[in-house]
Amino acid sequence: MKGIKIKRFILSAVSILFLTTGFSQTRKELSIPDIPGYITLKCDFHMHTVFSDGSVWPTTRVIEAWLQGLDAISITDHLENYPRKKELIGDDNTSYDIAAPKAKQLGLLLVKAAEITKSMPPGHFNTLFIKDANPLDLADHRKALQIAHEQGAFVMWNHPGWKAQAPDSAIWYDEHSYLYEKGWFQGIEIFNSDESYGLKVYTWAKEKKLAIFANTDIHGVVNMKYDLENSHRPMTLVFSKEKTLDGIKEALFSKRTAAYFNDTIIGHEPELSELFKASIDIKNKEIKVRKNKTDYIHISNNSDLDYELILNKESDNFFVPDQIILKAHQTSLLPITGKTKIINKIEEITLPYLVGNLVVLPDKNLNVYLKVKNLN
Ligand code: ZN
Repeated sequence: MKGIKIKRFILSAVSILFLTTGFSQTRKELSIPDIPGYITLKCDFHMHTVFSDGSVWPTTRVIEAWLQGLDAISITDHLENYPRKKELIGDDNTSYDIAAPKAKQLGLLLVKAAEITKSMPPGHFNTLFIKDANPLDLADHRKALQIAHEQGAFVMWNHPGWKAQAPDSAIWYDEHSYLYEKGWFQGIEIFNSDESYGLKVYTWAKEKKLAIFANTDIHGVVNMKYDLENSHRPMTLVFSKEKTLDGIKEALFSKRTAAYFNDTIIGHEPELSELFKASIDIKNKEIKVRKNKTDYIHISNNSDLDYELILNKESDNFFVPDQIILKAHQTSLLPITGKTKIINKIEEITLPYLVGNLVVLPDKNLNVYLKVKNLN
């Protein structure tokens, strides 16, 4: 009797030990599929640490991003704003230097970066892929952007419609034309933190061929700001030839990005079209539709997005739903009912839908065509 008790005690002690030491830190994998020729990288290129006005240590940014399924980040501490000078020593490269070994350990790509922080115009600019942040810490933003350019940096204009700097709406000043024509910035945030900048900024992005971004600009803890259980943090999707820093840099300069926030992705038609195709699988390639008879297309969606389909054009020969949601990680049935006898002779049925939550710059919904064979 006593022996059994001791054994039990040992077992529970062992299991407690196991639970304590065997706890695994797990990463939430995001399902946004790759597209032909490119890997879809999930990235956040705007965040802060205690080395500017953020409240977390640089390695925390790396760990959060890894846990939350990102592939690449950049820490963009303000060059000019360093309120913890009394408590911390270091320079404008220190947050990168502290974060880099942790990023390497976790396999997260860390882009060396800094934020040039000026009043409007021109506002704030993130410089990515810089070599040394210290020479950019200048009162003159033109000089700072020129040096970033000489270091080979990719530069984005941050939160152009941020209320504190653009109370009515975003304004493209002459100074922005000057910087743009010099080739000193190539990207723009169309979403920052919880603000979306709307048609005006989307149109600039399209007309001026700027890479678009959605970033958190997080200063505190990511978990406290976004519902990561039911949703995700805002992120920039980068369609990269390879999962490397060089790959990302090439993709940014080639403007192959999309902004993913809430349930929406905003991007360019070719990439979003491929993204939708890669997310969707029509399980039954053949159906049998007759007048007044219904059959179903089985559509599985292997992505994290609920795709909202809106019928673009009604057919004379069959009925399909005006609206249907293809739920993430589920198979949806799409009913087709014959309207006329002509349907018996139609060999291929094409359903033209718009995807409500895939927006093609500047403000069109993505057109998709679902196709299925109709058995005779
Ligand atoms: Zn910032």
